[in-house]
Amino acid sequence: MSRTATIRATLLAFGLAAGAVAAQAQDAKVLRLYSARHYQTDEALYANFTKATGIRIDRVDADDAGILARLKSEGAASPADVVLLVDAARLWKAEADGLFAPVRSAVLEQRLPATLRGKDSGQGSAWFGYSTRARVVVYNKAGVKKEDVDTYAELADPKNKGRVCTRSGSHPYNLSLFGSMLERVGPERAEAWLQGVVANMARAPKGGDTDQIKAVASGECQVALTNSYYLARLMRSDKAEDRAVVDKVGVVFPDQDGAGTHVNVSGGGMAAHAKNRQAAVQFLEYLASDEAQSYFANGNNEWPAVRGVKVANPALDAFGSFRQEAVPVAAVGANQAKVQQMLDRVGYK
Ligand code: FE
Repeated sequence: MSRTATIRATLLAFGLAAGAVAAQAQDAKVLRLYSARHYQTDEALYANFTKATGIRIDRVDADDAGILARLKSEGAASPADVVLLVDAARLWKAEADGLFAPVRSAVLEQRLPATLRGKDSGQGSAWFGYSTRARVVVYNKAGVKKEDVDTYAELADPKNKGRVCTRSGSHPYNLSLFGSMLERVGPERAEAWLQGVVANMARAPKGGDTDQIKAVASGECQVALTNSYYLARLMRSDKAEDRAVVDKVGVVFPDQDGAGTHVNVSGGGMAAHAKNRQAAVQFLEYLASDEAQSYFANGNNEWPAVRGVKVANPALDAFGSFRQEAVPVAAVGANQAKVQQMLDRVGYK
Protein backbone atom coordinates (compact mmCIF):
# COMPACT_ATOMS: atom_id res chain seq x y z
CA MET A 1 0.00 0.00 0.00
CA SER A 2 1.39 3.43 -0.92
CA ARG A 3 1.83 5.97 1.86
CA THR A 4 -1.06 8.06 0.53
CA ALA A 5 -3.32 5.03 0.41
CA THR A 6 -2.37 4.14 3.98
CA ILE A 7 -3.23 7.63 5.16
CA ARG A 8 -6.46 7.48 3.23
CA ALA A 9 -7.35 4.10 4.78
CA THR A 10 -6.44 5.40 8.23
CA LEU A 11 -8.52 8.52 7.73
CA LEU A 12 -11.40 6.39 6.45
CA ALA A 13 -11.19 4.08 9.47
CA PHE A 14 -10.94 7.08 11.79
CA GLY A 15 -13.85 8.72 10.05
CA LEU A 16 -15.98 5.62 10.46
CA ALA A 17 -15.01 5.28 14.10
CA ALA A 18 -15.74 8.94 14.74
CA GLY A 19 -19.08 8.54 13.01
CA ALA A 20 -19.88 5.51 15.15
CA VAL A 21 -18.95 7.40 18.32
CA ALA A 22 -21.13 10.31 17.26
CA ALA A 23 -24.05 7.96 16.56
CA GLN A 24 -23.59 6.34 19.94
CA ALA A 25 -23.43 9.69 21.70
CA GLN A 26 -26.66 10.64 19.99
CA ASP A 27 -28.28 7.32 20.90
CA ALA A 28 -27.39 7.79 24.54
CA LYS A 29 -29.78 10.75 24.51
CA VAL A 30 -32.69 8.73 23.17
CA LEU A 31 -34.58 5.95 24.94
CA ARG A 32 -36.75 3.76 22.74
CA LEU A 33 -39.84 2.76 24.66
CA TYR A 34 -42.42 0.16 23.60
CA SER A 35 -45.48 0.85 25.71
CA ALA A 36 -48.84 -0.80 26.16
CA ARG A 37 -49.86 2.12 28.37
CA HIS A 38 -51.92 4.93 26.91
CA TYR A 39 -52.88 7.24 29.71
CA GLN A 40 -52.85 11.02 29.64
CA THR A 41 -50.71 11.49 32.73
CA ASP A 42 -47.97 9.41 31.12
CA GLU A 43 -47.03 12.46 29.04
CA ALA A 44 -45.94 14.25 32.22
CA LEU A 45 -44.21 11.07 33.37
CA TYR A 46 -42.04 11.02 30.24
CA ALA A 47 -41.50 14.78 30.09
CA ASN A 48 -40.15 14.80 33.65
CA PHE A 49 -37.68 12.04 32.84
CA THR A 50 -36.40 14.01 29.85
CA LYS A 51 -36.14 17.16 31.94
CA ALA A 52 -34.15 15.38 34.65
CA THR A 53 -31.80 13.39 32.40
CA GLY A 54 -31.74 15.05 28.97
CA ILE A 55 -32.77 11.69 27.51
CA ARG A 56 -35.57 11.96 24.97
CA ILE A 57 -38.17 9.20 24.87
CA ASP A 58 -39.02 7.80 21.48
CA ARG A 59 -42.23 5.86 21.99
CA VAL A 60 -44.05 3.08 20.17
CA ASP A 61 -47.60 2.52 21.45
CA ALA A 62 -49.47 -0.73 20.91
CA ASP A 63 -51.44 -3.19 22.99
CA ASP A 64 -49.60 -5.95 24.86
CA ALA A 65 -50.16 -8.58 22.19
CA GLY A 66 -48.98 -6.17 19.48
CA ILE A 67 -45.83 -5.29 21.39
CA LEU A 68 -44.95 -8.91 22.06
CA ALA A 69 -45.46 -9.80 18.39
CA ARG A 70 -43.36 -6.86 17.27
CA LEU A 71 -40.48 -7.69 19.62
CA LYS A 72 -40.49 -11.28 18.42
CA SER A 73 -40.43 -10.39 14.76
CA GLU A 74 -37.73 -7.74 15.22
CA GLY A 75 -35.51 -10.12 17.17
CA ALA A 76 -31.94 -8.91 17.78
CA ALA A 77 -32.50 -5.94 15.45
CA SER A 78 -35.21 -4.51 17.72
CA PRO A 79 -34.56 -0.86 18.64
CA ALA A 80 -36.57 -1.23 21.89
CA ASP A 81 -34.72 -0.30 25.09
CA VAL A 82 -37.61 -0.59 27.57
CA VAL A 83 -40.90 -2.47 27.31
CA LEU A 84 -43.97 -1.61 29.43
CA LEU A 85 -46.88 -4.07 29.66
CA VAL A 86 -50.09 -4.06 31.69
CA ASP A 87 -50.68 -7.52 33.12
CA ALA A 88 -48.75 -10.17 35.04
CA ALA A 89 -49.70 -12.91 32.61
CA ARG A 90 -48.27 -10.88 29.72
CA LEU A 91 -45.15 -9.85 31.65
CA TRP A 92 -44.60 -13.50 32.47
CA LYS A 93 -45.09 -14.49 28.82
CA ALA A 94 -42.60 -11.88 27.65
CA GLU A 95 -40.16 -13.16 30.27
CA ALA A 96 -40.70 -16.79 29.21
CA ASP A 97 -40.17 -15.82 25.56
CA GLY A 98 -36.83 -14.20 26.43
CA LEU A 99 -37.95 -10.69 25.49
CA PHE A 100 -36.44 -9.06 28.60
CA ALA A 101 -32.82 -8.59 29.65
CA PRO A 102 -32.26 -9.07 33.40
CA VAL A 103 -31.59 -5.91 35.38
CA ARG A 104 -29.69 -5.82 38.64
CA SER A 105 -30.54 -2.63 40.47
CA ALA A 106 -30.20 -1.94 44.19
CA VAL A 107 -32.67 0.94 43.78
CA LEU A 108 -35.37 -1.26 42.27
CA GLU A 109 -34.77 -4.11 44.69
CA GLN A 110 -35.07 -1.75 47.61
CA ARG A 111 -38.11 0.17 46.30
CA LEU A 112 -40.27 -2.59 44.78
CA PRO A 113 -41.60 -5.59 46.71
CA ALA A 114 -40.13 -8.93 45.60
CA THR A 115 -43.64 -10.31 44.94
CA LEU A 116 -44.04 -7.66 42.21
CA ARG A 117 -40.86 -8.48 40.32
CA GLY A 118 -40.07 -11.03 37.64
CA LYS A 119 -37.84 -14.01 38.17
CA ASP A 120 -34.31 -13.26 39.34
CA SER A 121 -31.99 -15.26 37.08
CA GLY A 122 -28.98 -14.47 39.26
CA GLN A 123 -28.20 -11.54 36.96
CA GLY A 124 -31.21 -9.55 38.08
CA SER A 125 -34.98 -9.48 37.64
CA ALA A 126 -36.58 -9.90 34.23
CA TRP A 127 -39.19 -7.21 34.91
CA PHE A 128 -40.53 -4.88 37.58
CA GLY A 129 -44.12 -4.17 38.64
CA TYR A 130 -44.79 -0.45 39.08
CA SER A 131 -48.49 -0.30 39.90
CA THR A 132 -51.14 -2.69 41.14
CA ARG A 133 -54.79 -3.29 40.41
CA ALA A 134 -57.20 -5.55 42.26
CA ARG A 135 -59.57 -8.07 40.65
CA VAL A 136 -62.72 -7.20 42.54
CA VAL A 137 -66.32 -8.40 42.59
CA VAL A 138 -69.13 -6.04 41.61
CA TYR A 139 -72.72 -6.91 42.47
CA ASN A 140 -76.19 -5.53 41.91
CA LYS A 141 -77.09 -3.83 45.17
CA ALA A 142 -80.82 -4.37 44.65
CA GLY A 143 -80.54 -8.10 43.98
CA VAL A 144 -77.57 -9.42 45.95
CA LYS A 145 -76.46 -9.48 49.56
CA LYS A 146 -72.83 -8.50 49.87
CA GLU A 147 -72.07 -11.40 52.19
CA ASP A 148 -73.10 -13.84 49.43
CA VAL A 149 -70.36 -12.61 47.09
CA ASP A 150 -67.47 -11.56 49.30
CA THR A 151 -65.19 -14.46 48.42
CA TYR A 152 -64.02 -15.79 45.04
CA ALA A 153 -65.18 -19.24 46.20
CA GLU A 154 -68.80 -18.03 46.38
CA LEU A 155 -68.83 -17.24 42.66
CA ALA A 156 -68.95 -21.03 42.26
CA ASP A 157 -71.48 -21.64 45.05
CA PRO A 158 -74.89 -22.96 43.86
CA LYS A 159 -76.56 -20.11 45.79
CA ASN A 160 -75.31 -17.83 43.00
CA LYS A 161 -76.69 -19.96 40.15
CA GLY A 162 -77.65 -17.96 37.07
CA ARG A 163 -76.14 -14.77 38.47
CA VAL A 164 -72.51 -14.62 37.39
CA CYS A 165 -71.05 -12.75 34.41
CA THR A 166 -67.40 -12.69 33.33
CA ARG A 167 -65.38 -11.80 30.30
CA SER A 168 -63.59 -14.65 28.51
CA GLY A 169 -61.87 -17.07 30.85
CA SER A 170 -58.80 -16.94 28.60
CA HIS A 171 -58.36 -13.19 28.92
CA PRO A 172 -55.06 -12.45 30.72
CA TYR A 173 -56.83 -10.78 33.68
CA ASN A 174 -58.83 -13.96 34.30
CA LEU A 175 -55.87 -16.24 33.58
CA SER A 176 -53.99 -14.32 36.28
CA LEU A 177 -56.81 -14.58 38.83
CA PHE A 178 -57.35 -18.26 38.08
CA GLY A 179 -53.59 -18.85 38.22
CA SER A 180 -53.65 -17.32 41.68
CA MET A 181 -56.55 -19.60 42.72
CA LEU A 182 -54.56 -22.59 41.46
CA GLU A 183 -51.60 -21.46 43.56
CA ARG A 184 -53.83 -21.02 46.62
CA VAL A 185 -55.94 -24.20 46.57
CA GLY A 186 -54.18 -26.65 44.25
CA PRO A 187 -55.28 -28.06 40.87
CA GLU A 188 -58.27 -30.19 41.93
CA ARG A 189 -60.06 -27.54 43.92
CA ALA A 190 -59.18 -24.85 41.38
CA GLU A 191 -60.74 -26.86 38.55
CA ALA A 192 -63.84 -27.65 40.62
CA TRP A 193 -64.14 -23.93 41.34
CA LEU A 194 -63.93 -23.05 37.65
CA GLN A 195 -66.57 -25.66 36.90
CA GLY A 196 -68.80 -24.08 39.55
CA VAL A 197 -68.34 -20.60 38.06
CA VAL A 198 -69.35 -21.93 34.62
CA ALA A 199 -72.43 -23.58 36.15
CA ASN A 200 -73.44 -20.25 37.72
CA MET A 201 -73.15 -18.11 34.59
CA ALA A 202 -76.03 -15.84 33.63
CA ARG A 203 -74.77 -15.87 30.04
CA ALA A 204 -71.76 -17.00 28.01
CA PRO A 205 -68.61 -14.91 28.66
CA LYS A 206 -68.34 -11.83 26.48
CA GLY A 207 -67.16 -8.21 26.46
CA GLY A 208 -64.57 -6.44 28.58
CA ASP A 209 -64.54 -5.62 32.28
CA THR A 210 -66.58 -2.41 31.85
CA ASP A 211 -69.24 -4.44 30.02
CA GLN A 212 -69.51 -6.75 33.04
CA ILE A 213 -70.05 -3.78 35.36
CA LYS A 214 -72.75 -2.41 33.06
CA ALA A 215 -74.42 -5.83 32.79
CA VAL A 216 -74.57 -5.99 36.59
CA ALA A 217 -76.09 -2.50 36.74
CA SER A 218 -78.71 -3.39 34.11
CA GLY A 219 -79.64 -6.60 35.93
CA GLU A 220 -78.53 -8.90 33.09
CA CYS A 221 -76.29 -10.43 35.73
CA GLN A 222 -76.10 -9.97 39.47
CA VAL A 223 -72.40 -10.40 40.11
CA ALA A 224 -69.22 -10.05 38.03
CA LEU A 225 -65.44 -9.71 38.13
CA THR A 226 -63.61 -6.55 37.13
CA ASN A 227 -60.23 -4.91 37.54
CA SER A 228 -60.58 -2.12 40.09
CA TYR A 229 -59.55 0.67 37.70
CA TYR A 230 -62.48 0.07 35.33
CA LEU A 231 -64.85 0.73 38.21
CA ALA A 232 -62.73 3.68 39.38
CA ARG A 233 -62.93 5.14 35.86
CA LEU A 234 -66.75 5.00 35.96
CA MET A 235 -66.74 6.45 39.49
CA ARG A 236 -64.67 9.42 38.27
CA SER A 237 -66.56 9.88 35.02
CA ASP A 238 -68.56 13.06 34.52
CA LYS A 239 -71.08 11.30 32.25
CA ALA A 240 -74.49 10.88 33.85
CA GLU A 241 -74.93 7.37 32.43
CA ASP A 242 -71.67 6.22 34.04
CA ARG A 243 -72.75 7.66 37.38
CA ALA A 244 -76.07 5.82 37.06
CA VAL A 245 -74.18 2.55 36.56
CA VAL A 246 -72.00 3.20 39.61
CA ASP A 247 -75.07 3.96 41.76
CA LYS A 248 -76.52 0.50 41.09
CA VAL A 249 -73.44 -1.58 41.85
CA GLY A 250 -71.64 -2.48 45.03
CA VAL A 251 -67.98 -3.44 45.11
CA VAL A 252 -66.33 -6.03 47.30
CA PHE A 253 -62.68 -6.86 47.74
CA PRO A 254 -62.94 -10.64 47.98
CA ASP A 255 -61.34 -12.87 50.61
CA GLN A 256 -60.64 -10.19 53.18
CA ASP A 257 -61.01 -12.80 55.94
CA GLY A 258 -58.97 -15.32 53.95
CA ALA A 259 -56.10 -15.22 51.49
CA GLY A 260 -56.77 -11.63 50.40
CA THR A 261 -57.86 -10.06 47.12
CA HIS A 262 -56.04 -10.99 43.91
CA VAL A 263 -53.74 -8.22 42.76
CA ASN A 264 -52.21 -7.86 39.32
CA VAL A 265 -49.45 -5.57 38.08
CA SER A 266 -48.53 -3.19 35.34
CA GLY A 267 -44.80 -3.04 34.79
CA GLY A 268 -41.89 -3.48 32.49
CA GLY A 269 -38.28 -4.23 31.97
CA MET A 270 -35.26 -3.74 29.76
CA ALA A 271 -35.69 -5.16 26.26
CA ALA A 272 -33.56 -8.23 25.54
CA HIS A 273 -31.71 -6.46 22.72
CA ALA A 274 -31.65 -2.97 24.23
CA LYS A 275 -29.10 -0.75 22.51
CA ASN A 276 -29.10 1.94 25.20
CA ARG A 277 -28.82 -0.15 28.34
CA GLN A 278 -27.70 2.62 30.65
CA ALA A 279 -30.67 4.82 29.79
CA ALA A 280 -32.96 1.80 30.12
CA VAL A 281 -31.84 1.19 33.71
CA GLN A 282 -32.06 4.92 34.44
CA PHE A 283 -35.65 4.97 33.17
CA LEU A 284 -36.65 1.81 35.07
CA GLU A 285 -35.23 3.31 38.27
CA TYR A 286 -36.94 6.63 37.56
CA LEU A 287 -40.31 4.84 37.36
CA ALA A 288 -39.84 3.76 40.99
CA SER A 289 -39.27 7.33 42.21
CA ASP A 290 -42.00 8.89 44.37
CA GLU A 291 -42.97 11.40 41.70
CA ALA A 292 -43.04 8.94 38.80
CA GLN A 293 -44.95 6.43 40.92
CA SER A 294 -47.82 8.79 41.48
CA TYR A 295 -48.07 9.61 37.76
CA PHE A 296 -47.68 5.99 36.75
CA ALA A 297 -50.38 4.70 39.11
CA ASN A 298 -52.79 7.62 39.04
CA GLY A 299 -52.91 7.69 35.24
CA ASN A 300 -54.98 4.53 35.33
CA ASN A 301 -56.47 4.75 38.84
CA GLU A 302 -54.07 2.13 40.20
CA TRP A 303 -52.05 1.83 43.40
CA PRO A 304 -48.32 2.66 43.37
CA ALA A 305 -46.10 -0.40 43.88
CA VAL A 306 -43.73 1.55 46.11
CA ARG A 307 -45.03 1.59 49.66
CA GLY A 308 -45.76 4.94 51.23
CA VAL A 309 -46.30 6.82 47.94
CA LYS A 310 -49.51 8.83 48.21
CA VAL A 311 -51.88 9.45 45.32
CA ALA A 312 -54.66 12.04 45.42
CA ASN A 313 -57.41 9.99 43.78
CA PRO A 314 -61.01 10.08 45.05
CA ALA A 315 -61.89 6.66 43.62
CA LEU A 316 -58.91 4.99 45.30
CA ASP A 317 -59.78 6.83 48.52
CA ALA A 318 -63.34 5.48 48.26
CA PHE A 319 -61.99 1.92 47.86
CA GLY A 320 -60.00 2.32 51.07
CA SER A 321 -57.28 -0.07 52.12
CA PHE A 322 -57.66 -3.81 51.74
CA ARG A 323 -55.86 -7.06 52.30
CA GLN A 324 -53.92 -8.28 49.26
CA GLU A 325 -53.00 -11.84 48.44
CA ALA A 326 -49.41 -12.88 49.10
CA VAL A 327 -49.13 -15.05 45.98
CA PRO A 328 -46.09 -13.97 43.91
CA VAL A 329 -47.12 -12.50 40.58
CA ALA A 330 -44.46 -14.59 38.82
CA ALA A 331 -46.05 -17.84 40.11
CA VAL A 332 -49.44 -16.69 38.84
CA GLY A 333 -48.03 -16.11 35.36
CA ALA A 334 -46.36 -19.49 35.33
CA ASN A 335 -49.73 -21.19 35.94
CA GLN A 336 -51.32 -19.81 32.76
CA ALA A 337 -50.89 -22.88 30.59
CA LYS A 338 -52.33 -25.22 33.25
CA VAL A 339 -55.26 -22.87 33.79
CA GLN A 340 -56.01 -22.79 30.07
CA GLN A 341 -56.20 -26.60 30.02
CA MET A 342 -58.63 -26.50 32.94
CA LEU A 343 -60.77 -23.90 31.15
CA ASP A 344 -60.95 -26.15 28.10
CA ARG A 345 -61.96 -29.14 30.25
CA VAL A 346 -64.75 -27.31 32.10
CA GLY A 347 -65.99 -25.50 28.98
CA TYR A 348 -65.16 -21.99 30.20
CA LYS A 349 -65.03 -20.01 26.94
FE1 FE B 1 -57.22 -3.21 31.33
